[in-house]
Amino acid sequence: MPKYVFITGGVVSSVGKGVAAASLGLLLEARGLKVAIMKLDPYINVDPGTMNPFEHGEVFVTHDGAETDLDLGHYQRFTHAKISQKSNITTGSVYHAVIEKERRGEYLGKTVQVIPHITDEIKRRIRMLTADAEDDADVALIEVGGTVGDIESLPFLEAIRQFNLDVYPNPCCNVHVTLVPFIEAAGELKTKPTQHSVSALREIGIQPHVIICRTGTHQLGADQRRKIAMFCNVTEDAIIGATDARPFYAIPLNFHKHGLDDIVLKRLGIETTPPDLSAWNAMVERITHPKHEVRIAAVGKYIDHEDAYKSINEAFVHAGVANDCKVKLEWIDSETFENGSLPSKKLSEYDGVVVGPGFGSRGIEGKIRAVSYARTAKKPYFGICLGMQIAVIEMARNCLGLQKANSTEFDLETPDPVISLLSEQRGIRDMGGTMRLGAYKCELKPGTRAFTAYGEDVIEERHRHRYEFNNSYREALEEKAGLVVSGTHPKSDHELVEIIELKDHPWFCGAQFHPEFTSTPLKPQPLFRDFVKAALAQKLGK
Ligand code: GLN
Repeated sequence: MPKYVFITGGVVSSVGKGVAAASLGLLLEARGLKVAIMKLDPYINVDPGTMNPFEHGEVFVTHDGAETDLDLGHYQRFTHAKISQKSNITTGSVYHAVIEKERRGEYLGKTVQVIPHITDEIKRRIRMLTADAEDDADVALIEVGGTVGDIESLPFLEAIRQFNLDVYPNPCCNVHVTLVPFIEAAGELKTKPTQHSVSALREIGIQPHVIICRTGTHQLGADQRRKIAMFCNVTEDAIIGATDARPFYAIPLNFHKHGLDDIVLKRLGIETTPPDLSAWNAMVERITHPKHEVRIAAVGKYIDHEDAYKSINEAFVHAGVANDCKVKLEWIDSETFENGSLPSKKLSEYDGVVVGPGFGSRGIEGKIRAVSYARTAKKPYFGICLGMQIAVIEMARNCLGLQKANSTEFDLETPDPVISLLSEQRGIRDMGGTMRLGAYKCELKPGTRAFTAYGEDVIEERHRHRYEFNNSYREALEEKAGLVVSGTHPKSDHELVEIIELKDHPWFCGAQFHPEFTSTPLKPQPLFRDFVKAALAQKLGK
């Protein structure tokens, strides 16, 4: 059985619990330990798949097809922990399970209550994370979403309180992440909100053993450390100051400098050798001092939530590491290309163009114009999911002369549905969990850019979409548009087109899957890496 670390957050939301959990996972792995990691989310949605990414940030898709919170992306980028269906539960999914059980009569006439039935189900899910022999771990990190003091997170906190007792005599380690704000008028960092947050936690019965204090650009002083330790009933060495780190991937290194891993392991009673952080250090060094720079235009809907495309942003950072190059990704609202602004004028300033994932018809015509520019002006182009579909529509219209070609997602009546639903998908009405989700095998065609990028015959990548390339148009596009189908998923009666590219073009690729979900800083995703390489080559005139 693993030792458990619970990570809660206080004072404000978005305090960085997810990154703290991921960083701790990385530090423990660097000491040779095996970690498991999961997130408990307090909202009622059964999963975040139906939530708007422009409000809540991206939906992260696991290998086994679960639509999960974006913090799982951090876990995957920082650690080797297996991220699966089991790694993210929500209040909705817990209640769903308990209510189904109640309907089946499994509670034998009992009144079904938050304590013990909901809390038991939460604890069962936590234990399930490492229940299978292959998932066993030395340390399980459990992040609780939300902020201490929220009504929603109470059942989770109560479950954790019980869990601390259930595993007795094994110790758990409760880590609380808070904000220590700097008040300009007083000219100092204030510890009171942290004291209040910890007192709310202790009222529930949870005593933190480590407090991570986010302090912005200011350093936590000895005075403040002493104060927090005394009022929160925690030893001084367990108060970890955390200033904002640049680059982002330096966060675990800073935590290590402040002794986070040491103090957690001391509490858990685990002894190890010091961590080997050399590869991570070297990667951070490369991000900090890149030799080159490229500018990439990301053409999409207007976005005002910076986490809406979190994994794509990060995959470009990783691709930059591989090419010793800073990637400046700039988001351009595709609707501007529908309102008179010329793609040729705007996009010529950039070294590459990307069209990312998306749903709904807004801004589609602008994206088609952007692709048209990238194709004819021979700018490196990378289409991700919707971006691949847009490229197919563009070529059907402008190379095959099918003026009204479209995806049936945007025009049900189109005479040329070059992107459409498969016949077996028609008639599905539920919105949650009904897409093609998770990893599928993809066979690569030798001699293509995709094959060069991956260096393998068969790969696996993750999907999240409903619509597919319509094979009836494949021959015409291959013959008249120079389209190359370089990746396919074999099905019993037909092939699903997974990757397309262009013959006479420096680098033009579209993937029906989401390559961003498998990229990590130490193992950049091959298509992102080669796209950035092509953009850099074009910039350097090679
Ligand atoms: N809307 C498209 C589909 O459902 C693309 C989805 C995506 O980009 N993830 O097929």
